[in-house]
Formats: sequence, structure tokens, C-alpha cells
Amino acid sequence: MPANKLIVLGSVNADHVVQVNAFPRPGETITGHGYQVLPGGKGANQAVAAARFGADIGFIACLGSDDFGTRMEQAFREDGMDTRAVMAVPDMPTGIAFIQIAANGENSIVISAEANACLTPAMLEPHLNYLRQAQTLLMQLESPMETVELAAFEARKAGVAVILNPAPARPLSDALLAALTMITPNETEAEMLTGIKVTDAASACTAAHKLRDKGVQSVLITLGAQGAYYSGPEGERLIPGFRVQATDTTAAGDTFNGAFAAALQEGLDVDAAIRMAHAAAAISVTRLGAQTSIPYRAEIDTFLQ
Ligand code: ADP
Repeated sequence: MPANKLIVLGSVNADHVVQVNAFPRPGETITGHGYQVLPGGKGANQAVAAARFGADIGFIACLGSDDFGTRMEQAFREDGMDTRAVMAVPDMPTGIAFIQIAANGENSIVISAEANACLTPAMLEPHLNYLRQAQTLLMQLESPMETVELAAFEARKAGVAVILNPAPARPLSDALLAALTMITPNETEAEMLTGIKVTDAASACTAAHKLRDKGVQSVLITLGAQGAYYSGPEGERLIPGFRVQATDTTAAGDTFNGAFAAALQEGLDVDAAIRMAHAAAAISVTRLGAQTSIPYRAEIDTFLQ
């Protein structure tokens, strides 16, 4: 079986979503409504965004040996992904996110890694050869850090470009930073990694320089509705996003990252790839849910006409 050009390594979660008027206080029981179980997890979201963009993509992940895991693997295949490295872990549930959405649109989320915690270096080991044949590796931080590091180091040694979306925010070792071709934090993550409060192009520029000083080749900081700030060998600039009426920004960053990596893989230059990623993410924020909101390539092309 030939290797895939883009490999995403990351998490799979079942998002248990319930609507509430306001979040419960400690010790309080409240009534919610509109309960839904939706496909999520940063790894899966980014893999789906890349697949729907049209990338030749493989996914490395651990999911549970439960109904949700079985349905997710099927859904990944229907989205055209290579799932040879999607592993069902015996006697483990698929990763879980409990999400409360308040009437004012704020959310509150508890995540339990479950099967995602089983994606250890030992579980990755049999797939290292497959990984080394890719052109690009895209990862996030909902997987064990030792696995993210092993994948980054092995990929880098084999000449595979490594893109890390450092979400959710966690401290990163200097060795990992130096192995990255590109890092794609949002404002909060950029602040956590650099200590610089990122709110606009000027502060994003300062934070990006700090990360590049650590050995990351290129930095792309997403700035929500403002767009994204790029700093790399080709120069540095703010690339504005698209104006839309946002209804749910869940997975905006994931859609952006998956589409961006897929667009680069397709041979687009950084500016064109960011424009495509902005379009994909803009469409996603007009829709509810994580994977349910991620657009297909035809929708992105129509949006950009
Ligand atoms: P995250 O979801 O990780 O917090 P951001 O909020 O920075 O990431 O958003 C990622 C990308 O999603 C942005 O660069 C932009 O392309 C798009 N986006 C986010 N919010 C909006 C919005 N309100 N309107 C249009 N595009 C948006």
C-alpha cells in the first residue's frame, strides 16, 4: 500500500454536548436540553478537514473498542482517509469531551483522554516507517507528549515537514520546538508559549520572533476573526480572514489547520494556503458542531468565487 503524503497524528473524541441556560455552580444540579453526541477531537477534526479539502491523508490515532469508535473509523473512511494506523484499543472507551454550551454562546469543556492516552510511543512504533514516507506530519497536543516528540523527531530525521498545532496549550521542550517546520498557535497558546500577550499583528510578530529564536522555522498565529499572522523565511505579514456571521466557533482552529496543511501539500504557496484555510474556517464558524461544521472542497471553492 503506498504511503500517504499528509499524515495527521492525534485524538478522537465523542463530544457529549448539552445546552444550558447558565453553567451550574459547584454542588448545584441544573437541567439542560438538546443533548447530542457529536464527532470531535482535535486530531480527528484536523484529519477530516484535510480529507474534505481533498488531501491524500492518513490518520494515526487510538480509539475505543466501543460503538462510537467503530462508527468513527467508518466515517473517516467515508471521508476518504487511510485508516491503516487508526487503532481500536481493547476494553477502552473512545476519548470523551463533556461540553456545556450556555445561552450566551460560552462553552465549558471537560475532556477525558481514555483511548487517546493509549497512543504511546510503543503504539506508534509499528507505524514509524509509514510516517517516514510522508511529506508532511500534522499534530496537536491531545496525545501523550512523548509520542508527539517521538513522531516529530523521527519525521524530521526522515525529511518530513512537521507542523504542530500546540492545542490545548501545554509547555513544549526546546528539542521539540527545534524539530518543528511550523507551529500554529492561537492567541492563548502563543501567549502561553512566549509570555507575550497576543492581541494583534504587532504582538503576534513579537511572539513569533520569540518562537523562531527557539528554532521553529515558521510561525503562523491564528487571530480569530482578525485572520492569521505568518512569520517565516518568506517574510512576515498579517493575512486577514473573511467576514462572516459566526454562530459556533468550535473547531475553527482545527478546520484552519487541516485545510492549511492540505493546501500546502497540494503545492500552494503559504499565502494561498492561508487564504484557503481562512475560507474553510469561515464556513465552519457559520455552522454548529466540530466535524459536522467542516466544509468540503467544493464549498470552499464556491465561497472563494
Ligand atoms: P481557535 O479556534 O484555535 O481558537 P482562532 O479563533 O484563532 O482559533 O481561529 C482560527 C481561524 O478560524 C482564524 O484564523 C480564522 O480563519 C477563522 N475564524 C475564527 N473565528 C472567526 C470569525 N468570527 N469569523 C471568521 N473567521 C473566523
